[in-house]
Amino acid sequence: MKIAVIGGGAAGFFAAIHASGPGREITLFEKTPKLLSKVKVSGGGRCNVTHRPMEISKLVKNYPRGEKFLKKVFRHFSIEDTFAWFESRGVRLKTEEDGRVFPITDSSQTIIDALLKAAEKSGINLKISTGVKEINPATTYYELITEKGVFRADQVIVCTGGNPKTDNYSFLNSLKHTIKDPIPSLFTFNTPGEPIRSLMGLSVGDANVRIEGTKLSYRGPVLITHWGISGPAVLKLSAFGAQWLHDHQYQGRAIINWCGSLSEGDYSNQLQQYIQVHPNRKVCGHALFSIPARLWEHLCHRSGIEEGKLYRNLSKKELNRLVQNLFCCILEVKGKTTFKEEFVTAGGIPLNEVNPENMESIYHPNLYFAGEVLDIDGITGGFNFQAAWSTGFLAGKSSKENIL
Ligand SMILES: Cc1cc2nc3c(=O)[nH]c(=O)nc-3n(C[C@H](O)[C@H](O)[C@H](O)COP(=O)(O)OP(=O)(O)OC[C@H]3O[C@@H](n4cnc5c(N)ncnc54)[C@H](O)[C@@H]3O)c2cc1C
Repeated sequence: MKIAVIGGGAAGFFAAIHASGPGREITLFEKTPKLLSKVKVSGGGRCNVTHRPMEISKLVKNYPRGEKFLKKVFRHFSIEDTFAWFESRGVRLKTEEDGRVFPITDSSQTIIDALLKAAEKSGINLKISTGVKEINPATTYYELITEKGVFRADQVIVCTGGNPKTDNYSFLNSLKHTIKDPIPSLFTFNTPGEPIRSLMGLSVGDANVRIEGTKLSYRGPVLITHWGISGPAVLKLSAFGAQWLHDHQYQGRAIINWCGSLSEGDYSNQLQQYIQVHPNRKVCGHALFSIPARLWEHLCHRSGIEEGKLYRNLSKKELNRLVQNLFCCILEVKGKTTFKEEFVTAGGIPLNEVNPENMESIYHPNLYFAGEVLDIDGITGGFNFQAAWSTGFLAGKSSKENIL
């Protein structure tokens, strides 16, 4: 039996390895000259393999697209299975304080070596620089038109990853599947002309960021950059708001509460109390609410408070403006920037066209999908690879169990 795996990334390798078995000839097609190239550059060259600890119900909340679908998939291959798989192949993994998991070597090459070794052991034929241009379904097999000739396969597993250009999905045109418009996810917000950018490099530990006109709101660290704002809260917002932001050409208003645990009333009450106790302190020079001094000073200037003004001399208007800038500081967003070159694609094969119990196409028997080619994407932290391992595993294993 001939099995074709299309795409030499994380999902493709996992699918190919788990599809292998006696009497099965697996060929993996990769259009570029390099295998596992995203694994290589992932996590800043360290490869953030997965995330721990996390039960499935919590894990799936990290996927703006794919939550329900992955709930079923993760029952077949979970975070613990990822650990067991790599560690049983000699790759020791470590979990950092924030839950991100890396190889103990801090080198993505360790992960690549393990995958290449497993592929070799499974006897997989690796065909690099061999892009698949067309998949034609015949009655009992598939015909693959590749850059290096025609190939016939009994089963096909498509693991071609995400790509923001629709053209990259054209090799699927002969199939009945539709393609949900691919759009980027995971990016930082540009705020051109915004004076807050002069504080670049400054980070706030627990802010809340929302987008005006949506219900999207996330709490976490915010980093001020040369271009605008970044950090976990912004990245999460970009992922969950990917469609809205795309539809609005990445223009909108980000509203920041610089101390995510406080309400407007809390700010107001605590400021009033502070004025009673320290009336003769300079407002700009005495930051409150654990806000970094430079940001506090900036917010005071934004509120029109003069440099040497004392707390007792704050007018009601100035106090209100300060509360507003602390609780709902408005930054005009115009455009986006890729986060450390780490981006994922939302869109691709719609999830209602694939069976989550075995990753098989609902239209074509013996055709499977895995990885980012599906309309699945996660936030940063190892969630995208976990989806690739789990869907790749399930597609490979199901193809093996599906006796023609
Ligand atoms: C810089 C960067 C850093 C990242 N870091 C992390 C991280 O640390 N942790 C994490 O969880 N996620 C990370 N991600 C996301 C993660 O890398 C992807 O979600 C994951 O690689 C998806 O795996 P995949 O196998 O589905 O797709 P890919 O890794 O994209 O692999 C698909 C492969 O298919 C090939 N291909 C495409 N079309 C064809 C065709 N027609 N014929 C033959 N081959 C084809 C492509 O060339 C590619 O090699 C990062 C992404 C980037 C860009």
